[in-house]
Amino acid sequence: MTHTAALPSAGPALRRALVRHHWRWLTMLALGLVIVIGTWGGRYATRVNFDAAALRGENTLRLAVAVLRGQMARFERLPQLIADQDLIRQVVQTPGDRAVVAEANAYLKEVNILLGSSDIYVMTQDGTTVAANNHDSDVSFVGENFAYRPYFFDAASGGEGRFFALGTTSLKRGYYFGAPIRDGDAVLGVVAFKIDVDGIEETWRGGDYEIIVTDPEGIIFMASRADWHFSSILPLTPDRLARTDQTRRYADARLRALPVTSDDQAGHRLMALTDVLGTREFLVLAEDMSEAGWTVQVLLDTASARAQALTTVIVALLLVGLGTMMAAVWLQRRARLMERMQLQRDARAELERRVVERTAELATVNRRLEAEVAERRATEAELRTAQASLVQAGKLAALGQMSAALSHEFNQPLGAARNFADNALVLIERNRIEDARDNISRVVALVDRMATLSRHLRNFARKPNSRLETVSVTEVMSETREIVAFRLRAADATLEFDPGPEPLLVRAGAVRLQQVLVNLISNAADAAEGSADRRIAVSARAEGGRAVIRVRDHGPGVPDAIVERIFDPFFTTKGVGKGLGLGLSISYNIIKDFGGELRVMNHPDGGAEFIIELIRSGRTTVT
Ligand code: ADP
Repeated sequence: MTHTAALPSAGPALRRALVRHHWRWLTMLALGLVIVIGTWGGRYATRVNFDAAALRGENTLRLAVAVLRGQMARFERLPQLIADQDLIRQVVQTPGDRAVVAEANAYLKEVNILLGSSDIYVMTQDGTTVAANNHDSDVSFVGENFAYRPYFFDAASGGEGRFFALGTTSLKRGYYFGAPIRDGDAVLGVVAFKIDVDGIEETWRGGDYEIIVTDPEGIIFMASRADWHFSSILPLTPDRLARTDQTRRYADARLRALPVTSDDQAGHRLMALTDVLGTREFLVLAEDMSEAGWTVQVLLDTASARAQALTTVIVALLLVGLGTMMAAVWLQRRARLMERMQLQRDARAELERRVVERTAELATVNRRLEAEVAERRATEAELRTAQASLVQAGKLAALGQMSAALSHEFNQPLGAARNFADNALVLIERNRIEDARDNISRVVALVDRMATLSRHLRNFARKPNSRLETVSVTEVMSETREIVAFRLRAADATLEFDPGPEPLLVRAGAVRLQQVLVNLISNAADAAEGSADRRIAVSARAEGGRAVIRVRDHGPGVPDAIVERIFDPFFTTKGVGKGLGLGLSISYNIIKDFGGELRVMNHPDGGAEFIIELIRSGRTTVT
């Protein structure tokens, strides 16, 4: 019992501990995930996005380099072809010959237009320009000396001249090719060929990246953004400035250093640049074009890659949050479900326990009831036995009274009959026959009366018929009157019988009803004995479906204190030898046997009134 009662209380505690345990794990897992995603995840996402950006940049770079190479390849053989022309050799041999110079100028102009190059010009061995395509323009190169330019001295020494620079005369950026003008083994001069770079730059604009071409000193020569021209992404040290001045690569243009910081991250080169648009970070991809002497670099703004990485991290964190919430909700619902199930189990157990308890109680009650029923049956049997013996005792008492009454009743008529008979004898002797007849008829009457009395006695002594029949109250009453006549006379009481408007028939046993009436009238006579008013009134009435017989005296009535007990056996207020206390008890049971009721009340005008209620009957029988 104790352990079954302990279980339901231990259940919820255990469950709560389990739920707390789960919550702790969930919180730790969520925190761990947040930390991992916030650090390692962030780095990983950045790297992945940088890799993707780098791949894109790689393509752009490859394309840009290919375009530049293509452009150079287109032109690199042309200077030598021009240098091998006789006219060109002639013009460096005879720079003073105006006709030759004019012819060369015209030729160069024509070829320049034909090839789509920027400028073509011819220099003598000392670097002075003798013929040029732009001989007739404001910025004519004729007469200018370019001996300091590498494309010149490289070619003048028999090699291939290549250089990119800002034109000192034209102030236009270009790529220069130089080719030696040979006469046998001797180099007579140099043909210079300049191509424009603006057109190539043009194609770089409008992308979401920047392309720059830097010289070996880190100075930007070409750029997708015009404002970056001649800016340095490396510090402008005096060394670098001196080397640049030597070749006058940027003529008189003002050089400036871009506010740049470089960094390496996740295997990528990064460059932070502050300009008019603010500080921006770029992913840098570079390819050296050694044949051109420059480096092509693609700069990709990392903002979108970083934003994407951040978005990825945020989404992952949100997913973790969502997952945690869902897990929390699931845990909560599971806990609640378990609690509800436990409650149901508890309720069911409680119900079963109660059913068992109630069943046990009912079984006990049932057993008690069975015992009570048995006891009652035994008591009833005992009572019946007691009642039967009491009836017998009552009958004996009544018989005693009746024998006294009868001896009196018989003695009187016997004495009278004797007197009448004696008188009749005397009258016969005197021959007064008529008188004698009269006397004898009186004797006959007296004998008849005695016979009647004897019949009553027989009736009374007869075993009471337990069978119920229809009995006339008037008839029973007239027999009763004869039985109680003596008692009434002794008490000096009078009996009035009011049979009602019509003869009343009841269901009863005639002898037993008579016995009841004898009892009640005898008691009334006892009560009347000490009173001034000695009238006893008996009435019979049909009231509703019932027949009611009232026996009323004018005696002292029944005191309230004993009214409850007068129907108890052996209850009597009469002196020893006078009353047995059985009369009312027997009467009560007899009326009960008839299915009726006997009760007592004190009449408002004084005296006791006993009321017999009986079942009315519709049929008359002859007794
Ligand atoms: P008993 O007459 O032998 O005493 P009963 O059973 O007939 O026994 O009566 C019981 C008691 O009821 C009587 O002793 C008496 O006190 C009371 N009693 C009966 N009838 C009357 C009556 N008519 N008036 C007053 N008391 C009565």
